[in-house]
Amino acid sequence: MSYPQIILHKGKEISFQRQHPWVFSGAIAKKDNHLNDGDLVEVFSSKLDYLATGYYANGSIAVRIISFKQQTIDHQFWHEKISKAYQYRLLLNLINENTNVMRLFFGEGDGVPGLIIDYYNGHVVLQAHTYGVYLHKDMIVEALKSALGNQLKSIYDKSAESLSKHFSGTVQNGFLFGHASGYILVKEYGHVFKIDFVNGQKTGFFIDQRENRKLLGSYSKGKNVLNTFSYTGGFSIYAGAQGANTVHSVDASESAIALCNENVALNPPFEHEGFAVDTFEFLKDKKDVYDIIILDPPAFAKSRDSKHNAVMGYKRLNVLALKQIKKNGLIFTFSCSGVVDKFLFYNTITSAAIESGRNIKILHYLNQPADHPVTPYFPEGEYLKGMVLWVE
Ligand code: SAH
Repeated sequence: MSYPQIILHKGKEISFQRQHPWVFSGAIAKKDNHLNDGDLVEVFSSKLDYLATGYYANGSIAVRIISFKQQTIDHQFWHEKISKAYQYRLLLNLINENTNVMRLFFGEGDGVPGLIIDYYNGHVVLQAHTYGVYLHKDMIVEALKSALGNQLKSIYDKSAESLSKHFSGTVQNGFLFGHASGYILVKEYGHVFKIDFVNGQKTGFFIDQRENRKLLGSYSKGKNVLNTFSYTGGFSIYAGAQGANTVHSVDASESAIALCNENVALNPPFEHEGFAVDTFEFLKDKKDVYDIIILDPPAFAKSRDSKHNAVMGYKRLNVLALKQIKKNGLIFTFSCSGVVDKFLFYNTITSAAIESGRNIKILHYLNQPADHPVTPYFPEGEYLKGMVLWVE
């Protein structure tokens, strides 16, 4: 089958030589005037050499590439993409007796921009971030069924929240296969979490912090730990399980703190208190109270335009934590804003340290785990970065 053609301006095929999966609208010399959002297209160089196949969108990223080989985008195509992603995770040995939650498909990192699939103990939550992906959801469901076999209990589509406003009104969240009632219980490194995939943020859980939570646990024994932007208590549970003296969880969302308290109760007991308040307000009068502070805010920048304000936000937050933490304390600080790259983030932390007047050492540089793969072709996929700081 052949798809409508998109022809690039001379020289714009360069990015295809390094397999970058986006085509910006400015690179396009010629296209069909009747293209709709989500239509499959084939991209050609100015010399009419085939470059790649992708789907079209009205916007600055005009085409997202899903294949660098001329082929029909059919059941077989989706089956290969999904099973390849799954086989890769099997190699990582992520699913075992202690852990049954992982990201099963991570957009560009797995070869399909806009497709996110999370795996929660046999239940799968799918989020299409583009209409082009959403249009293929039936084939994606079939591919998931054949890749996961009888391990698969349900598939929930949560795309109404991830699609742009233009489409989100016309689609509804719901089960595409099987059913799960309300909550899913999962285990991560032996810790139990209740996942509210329907009402929770994103697909229900921040799987990307798994290895960083484990590291935090290893430093927590006997410490007073403050987990800010705690959501449902990911870091808190690890701290408590590893013998923290006390753990405080702070999140602006009441429902996140309610579920955080439930998660604490599902695990072996430890001293914990949850606060449904703003982190900046909470920290204001907490000088010399905590030995460890975790700062894992939501993406302060969602676009390039807000980058400057985001950097100022990260700086303000880190200055505050640096000023308040006890001597010999540790700060686990993160940014999940894609547009703030790691070097900008590191520089921001340096300037926060200077402004706070505290002496620091950098114990670790942190990132996202291997089930959120970064490829050399799409360095933008590296969105989560963090540092562990020792504060004198
Ligand atoms: N660390 C968490 C994920 C954090 S997600 C984990 O491991 O699961 C970011 C969280 O920050 C969200 O739950 C959101 O409700 C919360 N949040 C956003 N702004 C906030 C603020 N000003 N103060 C406190 N929490 C805030």
